[in-house]
Amino acid sequence: MAQEKQAIAIIGAGLGGAAAGALLQSAGFDVKIYEQAPSFTRLGAGIHMGPNVLKIFQRIGMDQKLIDISSTPSHWFSRNGLTGEYLSRIPLEGYGATYCTVHRGDLSALQMDTMAPGTVQFNKRLTRLEDNGSDVYLEFQDGTSARAAIVIGADGINSRVRETLLGAEKPNYSGWVGHRAMITAEKLTKFDLTFEDCVKWWGPDRHMMVYYTTGRRDEYYYVTGVPHAAWEFDGAFVQSSREEMFEAFAGYHPVVQALIEATDDVTKWPLFNRNPLPLWSQGRMVLLGDACHPMKPHMAQGAAMAIEDAAMLTRCLEETGANAYAEAFALYEANRRERATRVQTVSNANTFLLTQEDPSWVYGYDVYAQPLRDKSVA
Ligand code: FAD
Repeated sequence: MAQEKQAIAIIGAGLGGAAAGALLQSAGFDVKIYEQAPSFTRLGAGIHMGPNVLKIFQRIGMDQKLIDISSTPSHWFSRNGLTGEYLSRIPLEGYGATYCTVHRGDLSALQMDTMAPGTVQFNKRLTRLEDNGSDVYLEFQDGTSARAAIVIGADGINSRVRETLLGAEKPNYSGWVGHRAMITAEKLTKFDLTFEDCVKWWGPDRHMMVYYTTGRRDEYYYVTGVPHAAWEFDGAFVQSSREEMFEAFAGYHPVVQALIEATDDVTKWPLFNRNPLPLWSQGRMVLLGDACHPMKPHMAQGAAMAIEDAAMLTRCLEETGANAYAEAFALYEANRRERATRVQTVSNANTFLLTQEDPSWVYGYDVYAQPLRDKSVA
């Protein structure tokens, strides 16, 4: 059986795992990422990357590349979904870096380019891992195995690493789904309406967040939050339809109706979350991102927290050295738990930027400017 030994093994090359790979590598650590997917494709979804993330991307020379391909809205507008009345106009400039909205596939492709060739191994679904005290043994579905001094679980909400630390437990279904659709902007030209760069349409119990995903503004994207009693389907998502969307947003503003009319393809995703975990690490294994603190996506900060985790974990490992991993992990948790839990709570409540509030605590944050808190705080 083929077996290799790496100093740091990251499980999952999602937005958090890839950030950890690049940041650790640029700090001089020996890193390999094991990703279950056979490859990454440009699936139709967008994502916000706030100034708190762009400050991290500066460190790996990715910020300007991201800005070049992204839409960079000046404001986040919140509007009454029925009447169109503005509920807030939040400036997105003035937090020390740019605010981007982008296609997830394009973001992921940029992240892959920040790592040395061969860092990410695809088709490596982790099935078992065992910390035997002197290293961690990893077993993959394809029959191969590996050993690592440290394992970072960046394997998302259904994390195998989390399960090893805390036991099998399904995430909580939130009672909400998100519909996602990518619209060719050209299809909107027939409407005599204004389509703003970044706007959230709020109804009494549902919403639709809308933004461009390219600098050329040729793709417009929406993602909703809609109550849905139970998730009775298998798999990560199911197909939805224009008819279902018209029904869900009946009576909403003409811009919302136009977006639905221009929709060719729309999918429906269950929104899951977990309560804060009792521990973030054990022995040589540590968690980050959705593996550690998944949340409903309404603040557009889930991936941002995964990337901030990656930056702080790198900082802590640099501070202590990889041999003192236990100290590094305790320091990491002490410096991340409070912020990640606060964001998780606000995101789950779906109140962020509904009114004219100051988002500096989120966007103005610079992970590198924080004095490292003592690990005993965790
Ligand atoms: P993931 O992105 O889930 O990555 C986990 C990776 O691990 C995957 O590549 C997976 O294939 C791999 N993996 C899983 N199991 C294994 C295994 N056993 N072996 C090997 N590999 C494995 N966040 C934002 O910051 N901004 C937004 O605008 C935003 N919008 C969102 C909209 C919706 C509808 C949803 C559902 C979420 C949104 N989020 C947003 C949240 C964001 O997508 C997640 O928080 C983020 O993807 C978490 O990153 P991660 O790297 O921790 O996990």
